[in-house]
Amino acid sequence: LIRIENVHKSFGDLAVLNGVSLDIEEGEIVTIIGRSGSGKSTLLRCINGLEKVQSGEIWADGVQVNDPATNLRLLRQRLGIVFQSYNLFPHLTVERNITLAPQVVQKRAAADVRQVAVDVLRQVGLESKIDAYPIQLSGGQQQRVAIARSLAMAPKVMLLDEITSALDPELIGDVLKVLEDLARQGMTMVLVTHEMGFARRVSSQVVFMHEGRVWESGPPDRIFTKPETPELATFIQSVL
Ligand code: ATP
Ligand code: MG
Repeated sequence: LIRIENVHKSFGDLAVLNGVSLDIEEGEIVTIIGRSGSGKSTLLRCINGLEKVQSGEIWADGVQVNDPATNLRLLRQRLGIVFQSYNLFPHLTVERNITLAPQVVQKRAAADVRQVAVDVLRQVGLESKIDAYPIQLSGGQQQRVAIARSLAMAPKVMLLDEITSALDPELIGDVLKVLEDLARQGMTMVLVTHEMGFARRVSSQVVFMHEGRVWESGPPDRIFTKPETPELATFIQSVL
């Protein structure tokens, strides 16, 4: 579903991705781990075209992301992305936050998108909050609304960048549970996370990034119990 081939990306003189290659099949849950600054967020942003790459190829859902002729707006409807800061519109209700893009971007009818909002809120366990404003919700609930907002576009892949990092510990579990439910329903997900327990339990593939490279990747049990490089061994020790 996603193919990344020898991608190089730099910001000015700073090389951030140094030849990253990665294949992600439909239904996979790929977790990206690694030290701060190793290029995890940049890689996610390159996948949906928020950042341009200098060389290499990125394919998502049959479309070459880094081809200038590609309509990124269309592509992004199929690649939902959620960040650590959930960026809900504070002056809009939960329903409007969710229905805005389907109505404006996908030109769907108001009656339709109300039902979409109900459905995606049910998926994240917040159907009772449809008329609330973001400020009336906890951080974890706001993040679940942000996930619901992404789901409303019916994406084929969800890209999630440290979506629990800003949350109080007691709120993290509810968000992770939503992700686990999505995983069980077969949603393809690429997520950057510091939740190692979650990564180990749910991932089909764990990717350890180091100095802008895929340093090691493999099934979670192998990655967490038999690191093949000292860099990964050190990283795992530092986070467990
Ligand atoms: P963290 O775990 O802290 O989120 P990360 O692995 O996600 O780190 P990136 O955000 O991908 O790391 O950043 C990789 C490197 O690229 C860092 O050195 C960062 O300073 C640099 N960088 C990222 N975005 C930009 C930008 N827009 N302009 C210049 N440098 C950037
Ligand atoms: Mg990051």
